[in-house]
Order: sequence, then C-alpha cells, then structure tokens
Amino acid sequence: MSTSASVPAGPQRAIAHRGTVTDRLVEANERYAAAFTDPGMDARPVLHVAVVACMDARLDLHDALGLELGDCHTIRNAGGVVTDDVIRSLTISQRALGTRSVVLIHHTGCGLESLTEDFRHELEDEVGQRPPWAVEAFRDVEQDVRQSMQRVRTSPFLVHTDDVRGFVFDVKTGLLREIDPT
Ligand SMILES: [Zn+2]
Repeated sequence: MSTSASVPAGPQRAIAHRGTVTDRLVEANERYAAAFTDPGMDARPVLHVAVVACMDARLDLHDALGLELGDCHTIRNAGGVVTDDVIRSLTISQRALGTRSVVLIHHTGCGLESLTEDFRHELEDEVGQRPPWAVEAFRDVEQDVRQSMQRVRTSPFLVHTDDVRGFVFDVKTGLLREIDPT
C-alpha cells in the first residue's frame, strides 16, 4: 500500500502524510478536537432511532439521511445483517438509551453478494478452525432486507418492534429504496 497515493487536495487534506493511515487519522483528529466544542448532549439519541447498515465505505449515513451529531445510534457490520450482536446493540439501544425506531439499510453492489458460505469452509481449511459465525452472504438484497426486518420484529429482547423499516441504498444515485416487508 502506498502512502503517496493521490490525496484529495482540499483544504482539510492538504497536510503531507508520511506515516501510516492511522497516523493520518490521528492528525485529522487533532484538527477536529481543536475546533470541537462540547455539545453538552447525553448518550440518548435525539431522534430515538437506531440505524443498522452495511459497513460499505460508499455509504455516508449521516449525509445520506440528513443526520446530525447526537441524532441516532449507528450499528454497522458487513452487509448490515441483523446478527445476534446487532440484536445485542439494539437491545441496549432501546432498553438503556431510549430508541424506539429501527432503520435497516443494505445497498447495491454489496461485497456479500459475491461471497458464499464456502468462505467459511475455505477459512477452516486455511486456519484449521471453523469460524463460529455465519458469513450471511446473500444473492437477493431485497430478500435479505426482509429477513433482517423479520429478525428485528421477532426478537424477544426488543421492546419496540412496530416501527422497523428496511431500505436498499443505491451507491450510484445515493437514493434509498424502501423494501416492502411482505
Ligand atoms: Zn455492503
């Protein structure tokens, strides 16, 4: 990996970076903190909403959804899949921090569409140990959004399951498309 790759020449990024990518992030944080003022918020999201989304680098949740600092919980993983750990976070989000709505966001061109559960078997062959988690690969993004909505709605641990909506974000247009749960 090259550290001399083209860095956008905007005012925020005009600093020469000689170290690792993490060094670059730490430098950016110093500038962020220099301009930061304590907004005086507590930990409860202002909009009482939790957003579960894919970790995809092309999906900027705050910009895409018009969210501000403090508005929501964001829970992200590969695929935006509702795993046990996502249920764990949602349970804490709802029961300890007051969220009531859940928004699920998958997207076009997801890396999980090109994987299969063979990924686990290949891993097992390579490292001699089977991963305890499912890859959660999918072929049909709409169906996967439906399955994720269903997992949230049927979780016994959640107290608010009436406002659960699922979407596919189009990485080419930036638009969300809502998925009918049925
Ligand atoms: Zn993805």
